Amino acid sequence: MNLIIGSHVSFNSKKQLLGSVEEALSYNANTFMIYTGGAQSTARSSINDEFTYEAFKVMLENNINPKNVIVHAPYIVNLANKSDERKYDFYIDFMTNELNRVKELGLDKIVLHPGSATTCSREEAILNIANGINKIYEKTSDVMILLEYMSGKGNEVGTSILELKNIIDNINDKDRIGVCLDTCHMNDSGIDISKFNEFLNEFDSMIGIDKIKCVHVNDSMNTIGSHKDRHANIGYGTIGFDNLINVIYNERLNGIPFILETPYINRNSNDAYPPYKMEIDSIKNKKFVDFIQ
Ligand code: FE
Ligand code: FE
Ligand code: ZN
Repeated sequence: MNLIIGSHVSFNSKKQLLGSVEEALSYNANTFMIYTGGAQSTARSSINDEFTYEAFKVMLENNINPKNVIVHAPYIVNLANKSDERKYDFYIDFMTNELNRVKELGLDKIVLHPGSATTCSREEAILNIANGINKIYEKTSDVMILLEYMSGKGNEVGTSILELKNIIDNINDKDRIGVCLDTCHMNDSGIDISKFNEFLNEFDSMIGIDKIKCVHVNDSMNTIGSHKDRHANIGYGTIGFDNLINVIYNERLNGIPFILETPYINRNSNDAYPPYKMEIDSIKNKKFVDFIQ
């Protein structure tokens, strides 16, 4: 089993990708995920090639394969609605630039929340999302969008295998589209993670297991089907440590990156700190360690 495990890390103006790699290594991770700017904003600074060059040197020295490094698009991008054409076009332009930034960083995968159908039906939203991605692909190359499996909070689209399949079916360049699972989102959408193999069977027959390019590993603060999307630390939620270990070590997902997006410890106080080193350690040892007092 080739375990590829990491977490969300920061990408800041000081050291850009080099800082991200250093943070990932401090957690003993062999991959990581970044937003190339604010997760909730479309403001982006330019890429400094020297930091990128240095980052690749450090990745090479530490056996981090850039193919396993994931970028996440900001949450505010929403390709589901087309009632405001100017906004829809803005998101397409923003994502076109974002894919070019990913390529400039030497990376090739970006996770996208499909969108939220607030001013149209889910069926229309699915077509708007696919058409938007087709437009983004016309002006970019090499970078693949991974549609994230969503919890179904509000009007989120992409909250079932069928909805993801319907988006993918309408995308012209099938080689550049993949899926990013998220265990918290799956649980909250109504999937029982203790029956993960049954989910994979269904996914395989409808989309194909080879389309799963990344898994976000999060426990959930809420029960199955709650449509809430609140992440919990590994072993501290309703999914539980053993079920998450069975996802991470599932042979059918061997070699794909697993990314933690779990909350910081004491996150509402001044001494908040990341749980990732401890979580990665407990995942490697397959043994739950109670690190939160
Ligand atoms: Fe996400
Ligand atoms: Fe996620
Ligand atoms: Zn989430």
